[in-house]
Amino acid sequence: MSDHDEAKHGLRDRVVGTWRHAVDSAKDSVGDLINSVDADLLFDTGDDIVDTKAPKVDIAQRWDERKFSARLVNPANRRKLSVIIVGTGLAGASAAATLGEAGYHVTSFCYQDSPRRAHSIAAQGGINAAKNYRNDGDSTYRLFYDTVKGGDFRSRESNVYRLAQVSTNIIDQCVAQGVPFAREYGGLLDNRSFGGVQVSRTFYARGQTGQQLLLGAYQALERQIAAGTVTMHTRHEMLELVVVDGKARGIVVRNMVTGEIETHTADAVVLASGGYSNVFYLSTNAMGCNVTATWRAHRKGAHFANPCYTQIHPTCIPVSGDYQSKLTLMSESLRNDGRIWVPLSGEDKRDPREIGEAERDYYLERIYPAFGNLVPRDIASRAAKNVCDQGRGVGPGGLGVYLDFADAIERLGRKSVEAKYGNLFDMYAQITGENPYETPMRIYPAVHYTMGGLWVDYDLQSSIPGLFVTGEANFSDHGANRLGASALMQGLADGYFVLPNTINDYLAAGPFAKVDPADPAVAEAVDLVTSRIDKLLSIKGSRTVDSFHKELGHIMWDYCGMERSEEGLRKAISRIRELKTEFWSDVRVLGTGEGLNQALERAGRVADFIELGELMCIDALHRRESCGGHFRAESQTEDGEALRHDDEYAYVAAWEFAGEDRRPVLHKEPLVYEYVELKQRSYK
Ligand SMILES: Cc1cc2nc3c(=O)[nH]c(=O)nc-3n(C[C@H](O)[C@H](O)[C@H](O)COP(=O)(O)OP(=O)(O)OC[C@H]3O[C@@H](n4cnc5c(N)ncnc54)[C@H](O)[C@@H]3O)c2cc1C
Repeated sequence: MSDHDEAKHGLRDRVVGTWRHAVDSAKDSVGDLINSVDADLLFDTGDDIVDTKAPKVDIAQRWDERKFSARLVNPANRRKLSVIIVGTGLAGASAAATLGEAGYHVTSFCYQDSPRRAHSIAAQGGINAAKNYRNDGDSTYRLFYDTVKGGDFRSRESNVYRLAQVSTNIIDQCVAQGVPFAREYGGLLDNRSFGGVQVSRTFYARGQTGQQLLLGAYQALERQIAAGTVTMHTRHEMLELVVVDGKARGIVVRNMVTGEIETHTADAVVLASGGYSNVFYLSTNAMGCNVTATWRAHRKGAHFANPCYTQIHPTCIPVSGDYQSKLTLMSESLRNDGRIWVPLSGEDKRDPREIGEAERDYYLERIYPAFGNLVPRDIASRAAKNVCDQGRGVGPGGLGVYLDFADAIERLGRKSVEAKYGNLFDMYAQITGENPYETPMRIYPAVHYTMGGLWVDYDLQSSIPGLFVTGEANFSDHGANRLGASALMQGLADGYFVLPNTINDYLAAGPFAKVDPADPAVAEAVDLVTSRIDKLLSIKGSRTVDSFHKELGHIMWDYCGMERSEEGLRKAISRIRELKTEFWSDVRVLGTGEGLNQALERAGRVADFIELGELMCIDALHRRESCGGHFRAESQTEDGEALRHDDEYAYVAAWEFAGEDRRPVLHKEPLVYEYVELKQRSYK
């Protein structure tokens, strides 16, 4: 083993921690068992599903046609209809504000102490829109094309086209709200580029785009709260969905301050509860992000689509030790001006500033000359992993590559670089103690976003009538890989423009009978919540919730992370099943249910993550192709690129929960491409 390998494994051992040695031997026997099980025996296959809501007209007319064909609710009747919205990030706050403004009775929930603390506030780099302000050849079709190609041809054409159409409205809406987008000297809105595209269509507010957009949506929401159309419940966590006569009619929440269990009912429910990257324990997401809202809905009948599609972001600050509970993103916008490289030789351990141009490998520029440092995230992440696997990684353990601004500073001047990226540079300096104006940043891929989520049709309605899903919580428009700056676009498209034009079609069937608080469906949902809390508090085992979460995260990263294989995924499934049994017999949750209890909150979330983790691995195992962020070691081209198998896997995998201890049921929604030619992606 070379010095480099030793150092790398040394760090890895520290990072992975000692827990693994203890659990490995116990789990090998189960691993053997699973290895002998065919992947297809882990699930059943149900009927194919189709999205019937997208009109069968030319793609450019579909959204207009749907808006016209959707039934309307007149303003007087809107006042008689109610909607619950879980989530106050960009997707939830924009929807609540818009539906409130339209006159519906909206009840809004979040688990933070203020709606504006939603994870969306952390978004840094920007939001896409096909405005073509740069006159560089952008168009609705190009944004549509880039997004379908970027998602490795695994997204629905109708939805993506609509997203591209609506993108331009979002910018106008936000400017009208006063969102301070960056401007050029002449006063026009500025743009920059993000990965996977060759035009500049990303609107931004320094490195704080999410914060500024969320403040805009939050103000619109607060206006409706003051007007009385929206009732806000902060510090309330949804723990169960109420389904009456097959329709979503309410939620059960826990007041996180008093511990009280409350039931809220309405005519429709919207989940805008964000993504589930924290199943990996370490991710760039806010610590509180979790899957509980969507997972509970899944268990009540909502299909979960493409759970294995996870995005690993190439530019994060590398892991530095096993005490860490969070990873920090360095925005993709930095790849506009920063150049990524490693030393040509793995033996070269000099200060990067002493390494000459000829001794550097700007590997993205070399391998992908057409897109260079702005290849999509899945490709940039894998390329970083490859050079580190070759022993050419930098920093402790060799798990890092350089992101270098020396050229940009020389070309543009330090002031200009500071104006564009100053807050990101400060963040990097505070976390690492290194000055990125003087020495290159060190970055490494980390889990960042989840393209999977609850299955929705063109109207954003899930497989449970009356349950709508928006933003990162739905399986959305990004296929197997999301392009940078497209999540904010999708969240706001859903909340400001799409949902308000589709949910009325469902609500027009009202007025609906009030839900009787004594309805057995309500009692059952409340009972599920209270008995689960009681069970968690009664186990009084020996392991902390965090130790289970951390272990799950390691399993997911090792076997369902940047590279997945048949053998690894089988192993992961067996280990996760073991972990679930251990969790429910040995977790230690201190305190009581009456009042603030963060260990209890986390325990419920981790229990759901464990179940989700298993489904993610089953999904990844059954998809024996590589596509986007889902890289199967067995399915690659000669030069190591993802190799799709369109003849077998050009479908959305929508999973149905069949019951406790029953195999999940796979429903396929075939993906039909009429406006984009299916081909092997190339960024060369
Ligand atoms: C560091 C970072 C930077 C990013 N930068 C960009 C960028 O520049 N451009 C871009 O396009 N995307 C970016 N993204 C992605 C983007 O920020 C997210 O995808 C997006 O903000 C998600 O918005 P959302 O409204 O769907 O969910 P969130 O903002 O996550 O909001 C979820 C809401 O649901 C609530 N909630 C969740 N579960 C429950 C429950 N059980 N009960 C009650 N309430 C609940 C929460 O309280 C919260 O209000 C970035 C992501 C990260 C991590």
